[in-house]
Amino acid sequence: MSSLFLRTLREDPADAEVPSHKLLVRAGYVRRVAPGGYSWLPLGLRVLRNIETVVREEMDAIGGQEIQFPALLPREPYEATGRWSEYGDALFRLKDRKGADYLLGPTHEELFALTVKGEYSSYKDYPVILYQVQTKYRDEARPRAGILRGREFVMKDSYSFDLDDEGLARSYQLHRDAYIRIFDRLGLEYVIVKATSGAMGGSASEEFLAVAETGEDTYVRSTESGYAANVEAVVTPPPAEQPVEGRPEAQVHYTPNTPTIETLVDFLNKAGLGRTFTAADTLKNVLVKTRQPGEKNWELLAVGVPGDREVDLKRLEASLEPAEVALLEETDFAANPFLVKGYIGPGALQANGVRYLVDPRIVRGTAWVTGADKADHHVVDLLCGRDFTPDGTIEAAEVREGDASPDGHGTLVAARGIEIGHIFQLGRKYTDAFEVDALGPDSKPVRITMGSYGVGVSRLVAVLAEQHHDELGLVWPRGIGPADVHVVVAGKDEAVAEGGERIAAQLSERGVRVLLDDRKATPGVKFADAELIGVPTILVVGRGLAKGVVEVKDRATGERSEIAVDEVVEQLV
Ligand code: ATP
Ligand code: MG
Ligand code: MG
Ligand code: MG
Repeated sequence: MSSLFLRTLREDPADAEVPSHKLLVRAGYVRRVAPGGYSWLPLGLRVLRNIETVVREEMDAIGGQEIQFPALLPREPYEATGRWSEYGDALFRLKDRKGADYLLGPTHEELFALTVKGEYSSYKDYPVILYQVQTKYRDEARPRAGILRGREFVMKDSYSFDLDDEGLARSYQLHRDAYIRIFDRLGLEYVIVKATSGAMGGSASEEFLAVAETGEDTYVRSTESGYAANVEAVVTPPPAEQPVEGRPEAQVHYTPNTPTIETLVDFLNKAGLGRTFTAADTLKNVLVKTRQPGEKNWELLAVGVPGDREVDLKRLEASLEPAEVALLEETDFAANPFLVKGYIGPGALQANGVRYLVDPRIVRGTAWVTGADKADHHVVDLLCGRDFTPDGTIEAAEVREGDASPDGHGTLVAARGIEIGHIFQLGRKYTDAFEVDALGPDSKPVRITMGSYGVGVSRLVAVLAEQHHDELGLVWPRGIGPADVHVVVAGKDEAVAEGGERIAAQLSERGVRVLLDDRKATPGVKFADAELIGVPTILVVGRGLAKGVVEVKDRATGERSEIAVDEVVEQLV
């Protein structure tokens, strides 16, 4: 550590809300470069590589073959499938010097389908599974939580190509089993839930969600059967479109500007709230809607809900930038439970770091937000904070905890998770677009059927940190962290330093990955860093060395034991 490119921080970064983000920055694993763009420093890169290794081993074990595409891709294949436009604002589009259109790949179904078409022609060539571990680009509306939701991130994406539906089902099952092995080996707590197939198209689809309160996905599961589904995928009839009783009339004001404190204050003062605001004010009971540049959809923000943290304008400004802001109204949330239910969802509230949920039984629902004019109605997914109105359809139906499970067994309970993997039976959407056929035994062409399967490799670093930490720092599972043993040289004595180095060298020789703290810092500083960095075993070489003992501490349990110097290497290999 005397030469390691590492500076740990004592303070949480100002923009961090979730524990993994705070700790990975404080422990010097990653550094922010841009919204949703992070650099990997030595410790972080090691963890990322360890996760990649687990993923590669399990993909290879099901017969997957690794290849690699560029991230910079031509428009044409994505035009052919309609995704050049369907992908919307999340797609990074750019032009080369000749004016030709390019994109930065958000996922690679098109390229894999085209490549297989180019290389294979006979039914004898199939099935095949190809994968890559590659950097993906998505212009996420709300890059948040550090590497949990990046705009540049590492994904393992694989694609299966089969001659028939049975083959596809087999490839899907192979991936499902491989993902179970990957996430088990990483020591994650997760659930497998039914999912919608979203931008990919296709039919059967499941998500792997890591259980985490900070997750952006909500899932329900049955108390009795194995039924589990992302709330997005729970099939219930859409609600009748009718105004909700007691819905207030709302005034809507827009500002076209990027908010600054000054424009916010000015805006609040013009909003007709009946009082004068200054930059030093704290907001209470104010409902704001915000929108990222270029986005069609508004996001609702309930600011200053009684009983929770009130928000000063400076903080609000920081959380909104660079969004466009419109103030809806000032309203008493406490006196209007419908409003509280309807307007507040974690999606919206992540912006100011607080989660409110007044009726915890509602895991998905609709609310009408503004105005007497029907055209102005906004339908909001209560937990995703998403605004479904632009196309005028109401997609959200209410799903409550305690409802009967759709499979008829038991009732529903809800929890939150982070999507770590997603598997799809795509079918022939992409192979139809590119006419990917194999010549069958009877010389007739057979249309190939396809599956696609993703693991959020860089996201997993944060998910592991989210599930494995305590108030002192990170706590990596063995084999995944940046090292297996953290040797702390505690003391100025030359013999102690030599002892520490010797043990570290012996451990390395035996294949144990060691981090040696040989800095000229106080033991206090070294212990604090060791806890923060989170290597699973901490070995303290100090005063005891003279009596022939060292101390071994288990980072996860805090258990300490004294061990004879000549036995310690054998114990830790
Ligand atoms: P999310 O619902 O979190 O936005 P997604 O459904 O858009 O994810 P997929 O297209 O299914 O993502 O991609 C496969 C995997 O890639 C996801 O399961 C997730 O683990 C990871 N992933 C997706 N978007 C990001 C991102 N912005 N940053 C980091 N990892 C991501
Ligand atoms: Mg997404
Ligand atoms: Mg998703
Ligand atoms: Mg997904």
